Amino acid sequence: MPESYDLTVIGAGPGGYVAAIRGAQLGMNVCIIEKDRPGGICLNWGCIPTKALLESAHLLEKIHSAKEFGIDLESVKPDFPKIVKRSRDVADGMASGVEFLLNKNKITRKKGTAVFKDSNTIWLPDTSKEEIVSKYFIIATGARARELPGLPFDGKTVLSSKSAMVLEKIPESLLIVGAGAIGVEFADFYAAMGTKVTLVEMLDRILPVEDKEVSAFLEKSFSKRGIRVLTGVGVSNPELKGGKVEVLLKGKNLPETGEVLEAEKILVSIGLVPNTDSMNLEEIGVFLQKGFVKTDTKYKTNLSHIYAIGDCNGPPLLAHVASMEGIKAAEAISIHAGNPHHLRYTPIDYDAIPGCTYCHPEVASIGLTEQKAIDLGHTINVGKFPFIGNGRARAMGDAGGFTKVIVDRHSGEILGAHLIGPGVTELLPAVSLGINQELTAKEIASTIFAHPTLSETVMESFGAALGEAINL
Ligand SMILES: Cc1cc2nc3c(=O)[nH]c(=O)nc-3n(C[C@H](O)[C@H](O)[C@H](O)COP(=O)(O)OP(=O)(O)OC[C@H]3O[C@@H](n4cnc5c(N)ncnc54)[C@H](O)[C@@H]3O)c2cc1C
Repeated sequence: MPESYDLTVIGAGPGGYVAAIRGAQLGMNVCIIEKDRPGGICLNWGCIPTKALLESAHLLEKIHSAKEFGIDLESVKPDFPKIVKRSRDVADGMASGVEFLLNKNKITRKKGTAVFKDSNTIWLPDTSKEEIVSKYFIIATGARARELPGLPFDGKTVLSSKSAMVLEKIPESLLIVGAGAIGVEFADFYAAMGTKVTLVEMLDRILPVEDKEVSAFLEKSFSKRGIRVLTGVGVSNPELKGGKVEVLLKGKNLPETGEVLEAEKILVSIGLVPNTDSMNLEEIGVFLQKGFVKTDTKYKTNLSHIYAIGDCNGPPLLAHVASMEGIKAAEAISIHAGNPHHLRYTPIDYDAIPGCTYCHPEVASIGLTEQKAIDLGHTINVGKFPFIGNGRARAMGDAGGFTKVIVDRHSGEILGAHLIGPGVTELLPAVSLGINQELTAKEIASTIFAHPTLSETVMESFGAALGEAINL
């Protein structure tokens, strides 16, 4: 007889493990199936190990500027294998934490690749071969890196983000294709390690989803650090030659015939492909759209007992979105199953999803960009405060960048915030909370922020939007 559960979650990333725990909290008998280590891409091969690498990079850069702080140091160099090992140790520790949480919540864990046999049964063909039946399923299988046509990943010369974080030695040169958050973070990391980095983006600016001023500031800052940034440039004719890669670059500020660029390694960060193949999803009748599982606002697929959350149901492809979707899906299932907890379903506001890039300077944003707010017909006030005017940033010796807020001129509603500079990924939640709780610019500007803190720039930029900034 197959084992039977109220809820079976496929994939134990930040979407799946959170959904499983919320399901267990709501009284469901939950099973989670994971083919690899719990924690998913985020904890094992994404958010966490990259942040550990970047921490080493930032520390190294800080040490290089020690003289400015009155500290004399002999020559300093990175111990690359140790940097990589530390990043793996941090990731391992986080994955163990997820295993602990799943056990604590009495969730049955199965290892293997889940494949649907029919719409109520899955089996694990690559491990125990056992079958599992369930009243509800949540698909949380994530996504994987997209390859550049004609250039499959080989983990040596042609790198995905996963292989780029476990190289054995620092490459002399690295070509990064795609300047979204992943490409930009690796550009930062390897530049700090001493690699000659070329960052190529097909669109007209790096971090193309961010506010234009933020992209421009980051590009300037990267160029100052010796990173070659090419925007409006396409990559073609990739060839592997003698353990190196050669490509043709064509576009803005390059000769009409293009430029042939050779690099020791190429990192391809041009987007993701959903992990929805090889699970028999279409065979059992689940609708996909461009490979992503199609769901309604409660994450329900066209089959009423199968839900899908996180990267596998489409953008925004972010860990915190996956986790919140996991909570919402588990709650929607509880309500669908009879709602013993008197839950009231509140949907996620996809117009107010925070996003962060942990390069140096850091980038953080939420809501509408200035341009988007104008395009949507809002009458806006823009408030901007530079870190150079902030005492804490000056004391830290890290006063580049600014906080910028977009506010509706008539109502004072916060439409968006765009931050670049020291520690801004930790400043953004103040704005997120403001948007979530429908605070106005005036309410934030009149809140006392402790002095001296970087967060004062947030208060000051709202003051600036109202024409009331003091330190500007
Ligand atoms: C280099 C990098 C850096 C990133 N940095 C950030 C960041 O700083 N902040 C942020 O918000 N996001 C970041 N992301 C994105 C983030 O990692 C993803 O949005 C997040 O992991 C998605 O969570 P998920 O649960 O949907 O999927 P995943 O984390 O991908 O988890 C899916 C899990 O399902 C398992 N699985 C797949 N198919 C099956 C199957 N058939 N049976 C059993 N198990 C299966 C996989 O092994 C995996 O463990 C980063 C991504 C990368 C690649």
